Amino acid sequence: MKKINTLVVGQGIAGTLVAFMLHRHKIPFMVIDPGETNTSSRIAAGMFTPVSGKRKTIHPDVLLQIPFAIKICREIEQLLGAAILHLHNIYQVFNSVTEKNDLLSKSATAEFEKYILFNPPALPNIKQETGACEITHSGWVDCGLLITRFAEWLKQNEALTEAAFVHQELETGNKLMEYHGMQFSKIIFCEGYGAIHNPFFHNQNIIPCKGDMLTILYDHPVTDRIVKKDGIYLIPAGNNLFRAGSTYGWNNNSTQPDESGKKLIEDRLDAMLENKYTTIDHRVAIRPTTQNREVIVRQHPKHTGMFMLNGLGTKGILQGPWWAKRVVELCEGQ
Ligand SMILES: Cc1cc2nc3c(=O)[nH]c(=O)nc-3n(C[C@H](O)[C@H](O)[C@H](O)COP(=O)(O)OP(=O)(O)OC[C@H]3O[C@@H](n4cnc5c(N)ncnc54)[C@H](O)[C@@H]3O)c2cc1C
Repeated sequence: MKKINTLVVGQGIAGTLVAFMLHRHKIPFMVIDPGETNTSSRIAAGMFTPVSGKRKTIHPDVLLQIPFAIKICREIEQLLGAAILHLHNIYQVFNSVTEKNDLLSKSATAEFEKYILFNPPALPNIKQETGACEITHSGWVDCGLLITRFAEWLKQNEALTEAAFVHQELETGNKLMEYHGMQFSKIIFCEGYGAIHNPFFHNQNIIPCKGDMLTILYDHPVTDRIVKKDGIYLIPAGNNLFRAGSTYGWNNNSTQPDESGKKLIEDRLDAMLENKYTTIDHRVAIRPTTQNREVIVRQHPKHTGMFMLNGLGTKGILQGPWWAKRVVELCEGQ
């Protein structure tokens, strides 16, 4: 029987960050994940920004979460020897005069002035008749690289079991739990939308939100920034490739790419890009969201060694580090 302290179920953004926090606390752990390719975390754009939502607001928590996320990503970069974090302003192209005026008046307030820069130099090959601004303190994390490289690091440290966890095979003793030859006192479930099959934490009201992501080839110089227009963004991926997303299919748990999501993104890309591009990949995945967008950080009321981190919703990179730290503190009784 292999003795560990904590078993982490799932290695998306949530499980990766929880495992990293356990490593930071020097707590022995094992991660179990089947390594599926089309998970929310593997296709996520990984963007973060202080000014978000349709109404372009700044939530006070975000101003604490962004610097913490940056700190943790830098630490992970050191551990993995990989460049996962890209700090760049977002180039926000105005879709209408109304949007421009709204952001212009916001940028004149004390709350927004350091986050919105007006009149940036125009970008080549992008349609921007109404102008643009830049949102500072923003960036993106290469989530695919983060998950892949962290999995490799886990393997090197014999801390990854590549399999799906079968809840019915978990033996819950008085203090110690057992699963397939491992004995542990804590288990942290980080299963994303897969948590709907978790019999220990049912009724968590996880709402699926389907998201489409395209990869396009655009043979024209643009920028190394994220460009956003009309709810669609373009993220440079090197070699004239860009990732373009996304859609928000609330209450939709289909993982099949369909034409409607692709068409929605392509229609808006047509309104953003001056020249022709080629779509070379289309993927979809399910974001785990909740009714009131509250992140789920729970301890099981009866099995007190069981915990859950879920509901990172549309902001896994922004909120993940913060709540991963919190769930590990909860585990450690802090
Ligand atoms: C198109 C798209 C774009 C996005 N863009 C952004 C963005 O720009 N910025 C941002 O912050 N967020 C973004 N997100 C949201 C972000 O991806 C999510 O918040 C985040 O991925 C949720 O991470 P998670 O680890 O909770 O879930 P998941 O990514 O679903 O990971 C769960 C993991 O658990 C595993 N698992 C499930 N059940 C089991 C089991 N029984 N046994 C073992 N393993 C199991 C799964 O295989 C998976 O690997 C985007 C999402 C999508 C779909």
